[in-house]
Amino acid sequence: MPRILDGAAIAAEIKQEVAQEVTKLAARGIRPGLAAVLVGNVAASQIYVRSKVQSCADLGIYSDLITPPATVTTEEMLALVAQLNARDEIDGILIQLPLPAQVDTKALLDAIDPAKDVDGFHPVNAGRLQAGRPALAPCTPAGIIEILKRSGIPISGQHAVVVGRSDIVGKPAAMLLLHQNATVTICHSKTQNLGEVTRQADILVAAIGRPGFITPEMVKPGATLIDVGINRITDPAEFARFFVGNAKREASFAKRGSTLVGDVHPAAFEVAGAYTPVPGGVGPLTIAMLMANTVSAAKMRRGL
Ligand code: NDP
Repeated sequence: MPRILDGAAIAAEIKQEVAQEVTKLAARGIRPGLAAVLVGNVAASQIYVRSKVQSCADLGIYSDLITPPATVTTEEMLALVAQLNARDEIDGILIQLPLPAQVDTKALLDAIDPAKDVDGFHPVNAGRLQAGRPALAPCTPAGIIEILKRSGIPISGQHAVVVGRSDIVGKPAAMLLLHQNATVTICHSKTQNLGEVTRQADILVAAIGRPGFITPEMVKPGATLIDVGINRITDPAEFARFFVGNAKREASFAKRGSTLVGDVHPAAFEVAGAYTPVPGGVGPLTIAMLMANTVSAAKMRRGL
């Protein structure tokens, strides 16, 4: 039986450690603060930001939720970022993506003070990460490393294959695995004979954004599967392709009309030695690492 890597439990453990750190800082008169910027009315973004703000409250971190309208311009957003860069009680700035089409996302992310870039998306932090210097690392990839380490899964000397090369997940995940001494291969949409490459992986990270893309024959028996994908499916035929015979999922799909599936086909988990489920695997780590980054930013900014 493959081992299920319980991301929710690991995230809870990290949050507890962050709360302890916040208490220690409070004794020195320091309260870490996060500004969360939520533009417009994208339902998924609202859910994500709400849970980030709630996590701040749970852990004793100050938070300020700022909600510009969907019609906001790049100039108005740049002015907001400049204000947040200057506010001393703000240690971390989070701009929930995606932004409306009229806003220049890159210009905005580049305008965030790298010291407050708790998402780790600024080119300065990407460069520091690559150079192996202390940096605010992107939350989801940092969470992947925490799952592996805290689950006692060896990384050093292992062959890690990362499918996906986005700046947010794939690339930084590959870099962090490399810094942990894995032998790393990065795959993408132009990779030839993908299954041949993924079958060599001791650790396979799927960050593709395609439901159930990694099938059992693409997995080396006993491998560790890290499924980053979060795909909501509503089509009953697609549902049947993944979850037929799974009574719990069938009941929840019948009730809600949708369910989440990762980038790994559930049948592929059966081949694995260990895997992160969707939901409840990598997802919870993203918020936990955002909290950890906010506290790190607060300390680094004060030279602690
Ligand atoms: P992107 O769309 O930015 O990147 C997807 C990557 O997958 C690209 O590098 C692309 O290659 C590659 N890809 C697409 N199709 C194929 C294919 N047929 N074969 C091989 N590679 C392919 O997505 P993100 O990195 O932002 O997100 C990936 C997934 O992770 C999504 O499901 C997203 O929802 C989820 N996610 C989950 C988070 C969490 O908290 N758990 C946080 C962030 C994302 P190419 O570069 O060549 O186009």
